[in-house]
Amino acid sequence: MPELPDLTVVAEELGRRVAGRTVLEATAPTPILVRATPEELSSLAGATIGVATRRGKFLLLPFERDGASTRILAANPMLAGRFWLTPHRERVRARTGLRLALDGEEDLRYVDREMLGKLYLVAPEGMDQIPGWPEMGPDADDPELTLEAFRQRIRRHPGELKPLLRNPRFVAGIGNAYSDEILWEAKLAPFRKRSTLNDDDIARLYDAMRTVLADATKRLRVLVPPEIETQHREFLKVHLRGGEPCPRCGRELRQIGGREATTFCRSCQPPF
Ligand SMILES: [Zn+2]
Repeated sequence: MPELPDLTVVAEELGRRVAGRTVLEATAPTPILVRATPEELSSLAGATIGVATRRGKFLLLPFERDGASTRILAANPMLAGRFWLTPHRERVRARTGLRLALDGEEDLRYVDREMLGKLYLVAPEGMDQIPGWPEMGPDADDPELTLEAFRQRIRRHPGELKPLLRNPRFVAGIGNAYSDEILWEAKLAPFRKRSTLNDDDIARLYDAMRTVLADATKRLRVLVPPEIETQHREFLKVHLRGGEPCPRCGRELRQIGGREATTFCRSCQPPF
């Protein structure tokens, strides 16, 4: 699942490679992935692509006419959605949600193996129509989310730490993989209740969140371009490494759950 670091780097790469280019044609080969009518899609022809950004787990791609943004594509890739820049002539694969034919003989496509993602095409003032958008909390890397602001917010969110970090109403952009990495870095067990944390624990959690996301973003800037369709997770320290030695203490990492697995170290991340 693309998370904050993945989507930040994809947005940056799209900013370099598609900003300023003209849309020749927009189509939805798999219409169920796209929340837009065929008329709304075809009206993108002739628009210029602006600079892509990220908010939470959404990638935002603006379409401009005469320098003003007229539509925004908000993509929530969920488990397996990927953007892909490829020549026009490349065969359109199954589960391609969107195909934007651009000038320069290239397409920007959205492909979703699991068909769980969603693409919303909205007016710039219509972002609140997107499910989950109005109640979204600050981005986990938002400069305005200071430790003090983080302390204030965490008070309002009871429950276990792993679902808390993944809750976009608390902080946006963290999913299953990076929540494991952050909790390991903070030496906090995923099942611990927020109510058991003291001031030092909260500061450690905050620092770990910032460090893990910033470090991952830095690494991905090197690993990802130009292949924005490939997700890199090989540098993660614990997520999905159950059975391997903990990089800190050497004891065996535990892993529970299937597809949405949680990996942690029982020794470094005590349950209380
Ligand atoms: Zn350990």
